[in-house]
Amino acid sequence: MTDARVVVIGGGFAGVAAAVRLRDRGARVTLIEERRMLGGRARSDVLDDVPIDTGAQLITAGYARTVQLLGAHLERDVAHDIVVRNGERLPLRFGSLRSLLGFSGLSAREKVRLATSLLPLLARHREALDASGARLPESLDTESVRSYVERRIGAAAADTLAEPPCNGFYNVAASDVSLAFFLSLGRYGSEGDTLAPMRSWSDALGAALVGIEVITDARVVAVNADSGGGRTSRVSVHDATGRTWDAAAVVIATDPRTAHDLIAPHLGIDHALAHWLATVPMRGTLTLALALDCAPPHDAFGVFQDVRVARTVSACAVHGAKRPRVRADRDVVLAWPAPRALDAMRDMSAESITAHMLPDVEALVPQVRGHITRARVYRFNHGSPIPFIGFVRDRARASALLNSIDLPIALAGDYLTTPLIEGAVASGEFAGERIAKRIGLA
Ligand SMILES: Cc1cc2nc3c(=O)[nH]c(=O)nc-3n(C[C@H](O)[C@H](O)[C@H](O)COP(=O)(O)OP(=O)(O)OC[C@H]3O[C@@H](n4cnc5c(N)ncnc54)[C@H](O)[C@@H]3O)c2cc1C
Repeated sequence: MTDARVVVIGGGFAGVAAAVRLRDRGARVTLIEERRMLGGRARSDVLDDVPIDTGAQLITAGYARTVQLLGAHLERDVAHDIVVRNGERLPLRFGSLRSLLGFSGLSAREKVRLATSLLPLLARHREALDASGARLPESLDTESVRSYVERRIGAAAADTLAEPPCNGFYNVAASDVSLAFFLSLGRYGSEGDTLAPMRSWSDALGAALVGIEVITDARVVAVNADSGGGRTSRVSVHDATGRTWDAAAVVIATDPRTAHDLIAPHLGIDHALAHWLATVPMRGTLTLALALDCAPPHDAFGVFQDVRVARTVSACAVHGAKRPRVRADRDVVLAWPAPRALDAMRDMSAESITAHMLPDVEALVPQVRGHITRARVYRFNHGSPIPFIGFVRDRARASALLNSIDLPIALAGDYLTTPLIEGAVASGEFAGERIAKRIGLA
């Protein structure tokens, strides 16, 4: 009889998707997560009784895999965003084509150019702009979104349309982001309602793991493989406190550097996959969360700073605007650093980061002034993958390398697909299928 125990390392979206897929195929699954909370870069916390998401915030109805994974735990989000331009606060729903065409931050001439350049490109490639990254056209991956928008629509439009999502979500300049990835954002943004978790991402992920053993607060430090007599058929997983789990296979759903440390001993450090894992470009970021003893207006969720004046903050979010059931007498405002400012702040204490970012936060959400009860900084030091120009070909190469290894070990994570929740889920499902096949469940 097949021993179908599988260990999944990492409780972000990729790990949870892999665990659920393996459970559904009949495996006995143990998921091990280093932190107290599930979610990784989408992990949640509770600040002064307000449940908050500390990293990733929203998805759209177009995230078909994620909706299937968490369906009952999602709800429609109704708040708009605001883009600050020349001191004016202009409402916009990022990604929504209808909203873009009615957006007062673009001139009529810019809208005509938008309608004859970016929008037809999006329509033509819609099907291929899938978060799995497997079908992204290489023809869209030879230019940055900044250069394309500047060339076809104008520099002001690049500041207004391309920089805010790249700066705010990924802490990179639009000149470093592939047009192919930006168009994927546009595809999902324009597909249906925006969705948020009913309580928090960590809760929603926990609810999806019915029937799966979940171990938190455990950092895996080694994966050993028993290859006695030929093809490796057993693995053991070891945590920092000396606990061990034996299994038929393992999915490593961590960041690429940790994946490197766990898998490299089985590949040899000169292996091309080991080299790729050690060097795939990542960019760390952080979120500043400010608890308030009041609730700012909930008419907008994201407030994006004019890129030409942003000093320390590129975007803020009024957390209660995405979850209106939050208490009327308190709320939390989140803020993300401007790309230029992050490197100087990275090693600062939470107090110094707060002091640095506060003036810009107050400019974007004036209601915070005099109402802050607590500040907390959430650091994402392992970072998010940079969807650089050429990343489509780079991922295809990594995928070929992964498919060539003959081990009961699979990798998962958005660094293998696209840096979106939907991309992480896709990678987890692929890894789950690969292992199910390997141990005879598929
Ligand atoms: C600030 C920010 C905002 C974002 N906003 C959005 C958004 O609005 N919408 C969207 O779609 N995407 C957004 N993203 C991207 C999204 O968060 C990621 O694509 C997705 O969460 C990645 O999931 P993952 O499972 O691949 O990786 P991770 O979430 O990084 O998960 C890896 C997990 O592995 C665990 N781990 C690492 N090492 C070990 C170890 N040795 N032992 C045990 N566990 C270990 C980590 O603790 C972590 O939980 C955002 C990202 C950031 C940083």
